[in-house]
Amino acid sequence: MRPAHPLLDIRGLRKSYGAAEVLKGIDLAVSPGELVFLIGPSGSGKSTLLRCCNRLEEASGGSIWFDGQEVLADRIDINALRRRMGMVFQSFNLYPHMSALGNVTLALRKVLKKPRAEAERIGMAALERVGLAHKAASYPGELSGGQQQRVAIARALALEPGLMLFDEPTSALDPELVGSVLQAMRDMRAAGMTMLVVSHEMRFAREAADRVVFMDGGVIVEQGPPEQIFGSPRHERTRTFVSEVA
Ligand code: ADP
Ligand code: MG
Repeated sequence: MRPAHPLLDIRGLRKSYGAAEVLKGIDLAVSPGELVFLIGPSGSGKSTLLRCCNRLEEASGGSIWFDGQEVLADRIDINALRRRMGMVFQSFNLYPHMSALGNVTLALRKVLKKPRAEAERIGMAALERVGLAHKAASYPGELSGGQQQRVAIARALALEPGLMLFDEPTSALDPELVGSVLQAMRDMRAAGMTMLVVSHEMRFAREAADRVVFMDGGVIVEQGPPEQIFGSPRHERTRTFVSEVA
């Protein structure tokens, strides 16, 4: 049964770059434990939507509520918001001169001021969750792309986020490395993590998503369970997109 209150509640979200309006009033709610997949053509506004959620971009209008907090309020602590809303990008952005564990524990130590032993205990648990405890001492250059991306996921998990945002987490990976990252995401879902995922992995969406949201031209065209979006889309634009990518 779905809880009554969404964890993330986006209403009437707008974003313009100069005269170009790229988000034209987005309404989207994500419930605790839900995995919502966001799909749509390049330029439809998917990344902008995610980036507005954690204030990497400033919205032009609308509201976003996350876990009872008004994300777009002036007084919000943006760094605290970003710790509670972990984000994983296409590029992993690990520090090359630090071990996997060093990367995962950096914010715990420097920002949250945890003592080394405690930070390392939390960091090892996070690496464990992505199946990489045995690589804790390895440097990014010694890891595959899939392993580096899982370290980036562990880095976010170590901060105990309430929501994870993924923006094309497997797009930069060689095909044979994609599976390990998707497995880490599957495990997170099984552990109850709430996730909003932009990805072109349609097979994964079919299998793992609770809901698929199709965006085009800055609006949500259609949303529903994966069977509906992939099997019997209602809108022509959805049908066209799905037939091209699936
Ligand atoms: P998607 O992730 O779906 O491919 P984006 O959110 O990246 O789409 O982009 C949506 C639209 O906004 C595109 O037309 C893109 O060119 C434009 N856009 C994105 N970022 C900027 C920016 N910083 N300045 C101007 N236009 C931007
Ligand atoms: Mg994008």
